[in-house]
Amino acid sequence: MLDMLLSRGSNGFWENPMLDNVKVVLVGTSHSGNIGSAARAMKVMGLSRLVLVDPQCEIDQQAIAMSSGATDILENVSIVGCLAEAISECSLVVGSSARSRTLEWPMLEPRECGKKFIEHASVSSTALVFGRERTGLTNDELQTCHYHVCIPANPEYSSLNLAMAVQTLSYEIRMAYLEHEKGLYRVSDEMIEFPRHKELELFFSHLEKVAKDIDFIDEQQPGKVMNKLRRLFTRSRPETQELNILRGILTAVEKKIR
Ligand code: SAH
Repeated sequence: MLDMLLSRGSNGFWENPMLDNVKVVLVGTSHSGNIGSAARAMKVMGLSRLVLVDPQCEIDQQAIAMSSGATDILENVSIVGCLAEAISECSLVVGSSARSRTLEWPMLEPRECGKKFIEHASVSSTALVFGRERTGLTNDELQTCHYHVCIPANPEYSSLNLAMAVQTLSYEIRMAYLEHEKGLYRVSDEMIEFPRHKELELFFSHLEKVAKDIDFIDEQQPGKVMNKLRRLFTRSRPETQELNILRGILTAVEKKIR
């Protein structure tokens, strides 16, 4: 059974197709030690894909020391300039925040979050996103996520160290993974296909263009309509096929008004 699930990859490490579909994305990290500790936290839970968005530090000796042997994760790290780039291929994006309900957004409990990852990671790429040590994730970054997750810590002292937040949420993913392996928790055989982040972004641009073409949105005073629509479509999680229908309607409107 284990042989079927694990195989040696080209880099010589054991690969696990399900857990390898989970990316841990750290945005704007400023302490290299936290990157090393996050790598260690991931590796003990069987996660391997680390992505750094616009890091404010180098992967230096401190990072290597704190990774305590999880240097393979640091060696294979991807570094990108913005969050959209990190998550463009992902069909599930969850942003973690110490502040629950800063925005009205679908929330997951850490335990549900673990299960959601295992459901999606069996078929597609997913991302768990962490914010900056001092300021967390911006509202714009949080709004690109499908769900938010908050570790229900002491309300008077609720902010975990970045790597410890990575540890806690990676542990929940591992627990869901082990339950799935034991057959206690089944991922549906017919997993629905959800659009990747970049496909949703193309839809939002298309929707905005058509809303402007038909003068529903005023170019000079666009207001918050697009924000509200983004929230609506993020909340309702259209499937790939449903999104294609919506794109088709927009294209038909464009043809009619041409
Ligand atoms: N002062 C910042 C805290 C940043 S801690 C803020 O108010 O957001 C760095 C990161 O660790 C956060 O962006 C978040 O991704 C994660 N984190 C810390 N505590 C958390 C908690 N209780 N629940 C979920 N994520 C948490």
